[in-house]
Amino acid sequence: MTDVIHLLPDHVANQIAAGEVVQRPASVIKELLENSIDARAKNIQIFIKEAGKILIKIVDDGMGMSVTDARLSFERHATSKIRAAEDLFSLQTKGFRGEALASIAAIAHVELKTKRPEEEIGTCIRIEGSEVISQEQCTTATGTSISVKNLFYNIPARRNFLKSDTVETRHIVDEFQRVALAHPDIAFTLIHNGSELFQLPATKYRQRINNIFGGKTNEKLVPVNEETEILTISGFVGKPEFARRTRGEQFFFVNDRFIKSPYLHHSVSAAFDGLLKDGAYPSYFLYLKVDPKSIDINIHPTKTEIKFEDEHTLYALLRSAIKHSLGQFSVAPVLDFERDPTLDTPYHYENKSATTPRVEVDRNFNPFKTEHSGSRDFSNSFRKETASWEGLYTGLGDEEDKPIDLKQIEFESEEVTGNLFGTARAKESGNSTFQLNRKFIISTLKNGMLVIDQHRAHTRILYEELLKSITVSAAVSQQLLFPLNLQFSQNEIQLLRGIKDALEQTGFIFSGINKDSVEISGIPTIIIESEVEMLLEHLLADFENEVPGNNFSQTDLLAKSLAKSMAVKSGSLLNQSEQQHIVNGLFACKEPSLTPSNKPVFITLPVEEIEKKFM
Ligand code: ADP
Ligand code: MG
Repeated sequence: MTDVIHLLPDHVANQIAAGEVVQRPASVIKELLENSIDARAKNIQIFIKEAGKILIKIVDDGMGMSVTDARLSFERHATSKIRAAEDLFSLQTKGFRGEALASIAAIAHVELKTKRPEEEIGTCIRIEGSEVISQEQCTTATGTSISVKNLFYNIPARRNFLKSDTVETRHIVDEFQRVALAHPDIAFTLIHNGSELFQLPATKYRQRINNIFGGKTNEKLVPVNEETEILTISGFVGKPEFARRTRGEQFFFVNDRFIKSPYLHHSVSAAFDGLLKDGAYPSYFLYLKVDPKSIDINIHPTKTEIKFEDEHTLYALLRSAIKHSLGQFSVAPVLDFERDPTLDTPYHYENKSATTPRVEVDRNFNPFKTEHSGSRDFSNSFRKETASWEGLYTGLGDEEDKPIDLKQIEFESEEVTGNLFGTARAKESGNSTFQLNRKFIISTLKNGMLVIDQHRAHTRILYEELLKSITVSAAVSQQLLFPLNLQFSQNEIQLLRGIKDALEQTGFIFSGINKDSVEISGIPTIIIESEVEMLLEHLLADFENEVPGNNFSQTDLLAKSLAKSMAVKSGSLLNQSEQQHIVNGLFACKEPSLTPSNKPVFITLPVEEIEKKFM
């Protein structure tokens, strides 16, 4: 028997690998741009001819390469970026496979010129189809310039497969924009057939977006910012009224890398739920920063998908951050009766405090008002004014002086909501809220009246609190003296197993799950023991009614369901301090205006409206 296995000659192996990395001119551009960024370039110029089919040339002012490195850079798996497999988990660079230059050199005519800052003379190397044609010293500027000519010259099938110049240029521009959006601090120029397509000076994110998309982009952007231990979100979403009928300006960046994620996209869409006309797409430019350890980029080189360790949390955080921004944007002006209600004032992010509407609400109870006297910065002090719905829930409400336990309640500081309650109000006296029909809490605003649905408001407060404890912080639980034993159907037990982890995040402790019963030895401190069974029943019913398999919003559903069942009901009598707790807690929420299922929480009646009724 003759042997049938043999090693492929290098140049064949290289060509095959090249097919993976380089599919079209745009992929060359992406790889080369990433190399320049990894080399810490501050200025990058791109010249292309005929959509990159004839020439792609990238010139950077980065760190350059030594003579040996220049030669080595074209070897497969030659990289300066990782040394050991562990390094993959702490990647700070775009490249790490050491394949791009080798692949590109296998299928094109490549010329590299490079010089390190500390050297006088640079290196020039020419390679065609993996074969080194020449290597010599040359004079060249500090940095690296690579030109790639006649792409796929030796693979005609590939070359013929390329699309029209228009289409290929579109791909190039797409790649270019993704890289440029991720790195506003680097200046980029893109020149096609001698004419300038983009000339982008180094700047900040918002300006970079404007420079790329031009025109009125700036006024369409609403900033999004959220910082948690596991993730930072920043960037912008497009105002709903500017949403378009085509996809397009939708960008996610994770650690400065453009990614596609249908899952995260869904979370953005969910945040826009109910705000967009049918068939319209939101635009977004969202920058996520996560610990490199929590993502896995070591997948196919041309792919833009990333695996996250904890997708569910990310989903919930992203959605709530965007909702919050959209909420600020649309709610704030409505509450300001002095301003023209046509919302003509654009949302000024930079000087938020200057444009924040001021509405003053009367109330006389504030359990936290010990610090800040005369301080104008209410945004920070306000965050501590979160209502204790715990006291409210266990519900006797006759101990107004009891210090409120803050340990499980902490909201972010919110300038806009913070200013809802101005300083003047403190001086006024008398009861500032009252209950109507045991259903609404009425409060006065400076120029009108606020009508809050008590159940919805409390649901919103609990929902945000629960979501936070599920997704971010560890919840506090109370040990039960005697474990609770609850009976459930097998089907319910199944469901319960599925959400056990999330429930434990809220503070439940399951000491046993059997075929048809569960034993619970600890419950969240915010729940009272006698209600546990009811809560879980509601919860399981809610889960049962969900679309099967649609489990990625599990935490959200859990928080929604628990909040709904725990919230104070319509028909409950609330004393003064309970009412105040709700009002304060509500306006410390990220999105006070809507319930978790997007129903309005309060309405406002401006004085003018009331006056009109008397005419
Ligand atoms: P990778 O980026 O995965 O390391 P590449 O084949 O793209 O692999 O590049 C190989 C090596 O060549 C890089 O690790 C880097 O050291 C060097 N290199 C490539 N491009 C540049 C550049 N523009 N400036 C400086 N060094 C570069
Ligand atoms: Mg690279």
